Amino acid sequence: MAEWFRRKSEKIKTLDKREIAEGMWVKCPQCQEVVYRQMLEENHFICTSCTHHFRITSDDYIQLLMDDGEYEEIAGNVQSVDPLNFNAAKNYIDQIRTAQEKTGNKDAVKTIAGEINGLKAVLAIMDFTFIGGSMGSVVGEKISQAIDRATKDMLPLIIITASGGARMQEGAYSLMQMAKISSKLARYSDMGGLYITVITDPTTGGTTASFAMLGDIILAEPNALIGFAGARVIKQTIGEDLPEGFQRSEFLLEKGFIDHIVGRKELKTTLSDLFSFFNFGKGMKKNEDEVEIIE
Ligand SMILES: [Zn+2]
Repeated sequence: MAEWFRRKSEKIKTLDKREIAEGMWVKCPQCQEVVYRQMLEENHFICTSCTHHFRITSDDYIQLLMDDGEYEEIAGNVQSVDPLNFNAAKNYIDQIRTAQEKTGNKDAVKTIAGEINGLKAVLAIMDFTFIGGSMGSVVGEKISQAIDRATKDMLPLIIITASGGARMQEGAYSLMQMAKISSKLARYSDMGGLYITVITDPTTGGTTASFAMLGDIILAEPNALIGFAGARVIKQTIGEDLPEGFQRSEFLLEKGFIDHIVGRKELKTTLSDLFSFFNFGKGMKKNEDEVEIIE
């Protein structure tokens, strides 16, 4: 090799080829920056150069929110059947099996109870990696059981949404889940419950049209896609160009559809602050030193 190709300065470091193995670098879809995966992971999958929030799994949210990552699973064994004997490019049962193997989860939502900064709560966390976070009868049943638990123990309820909408492989059964969940939420609300939704990227279709938009408080992650129908369909239907930022969190906040945009790093504190503010911390674990006695 000619002399001028050699790197003379010790200050300039080159990476060993083994370090650039596939999957170690991730390109940010927002700023196009190439980020080291490990740095991204340590930063809760928020881009280190532009704060873009990458999609994360239900297990990542559990690690992010639950004290010591501990939780009790609710309705963990509910599994989907194939009510329509659905056959398309793949048959439905195979599709579920593949998704279960890929994600290690039984379906597109994880329902749990546990503590957030010492305050007990019930959570339902949807997972977009499981058949696009689609809402079928299992998602409906698990969320319903989680609401029942929150109602019984009068605990705050949080649903973190990430969903393409109803699961078409279950036809009308999936649409019924919207009514099932909504009626349970109404009962919980009548009993004085506190229901908070955290809408993440993307949340669309029947999920948006039902429980995602029913929160007493509706939070969203930055720049999340939130809508019912897709932008292209709307554009074709109304025959007009859509405004800049249409169907994104910031646009929906401006229009009053959501209450607050919360970055992932502030989510845990925001939730526990809301529990305390609405007096849902009573009787829970509390640091004695922090309790102020007013006489
Ligand atoms: Zn970025």
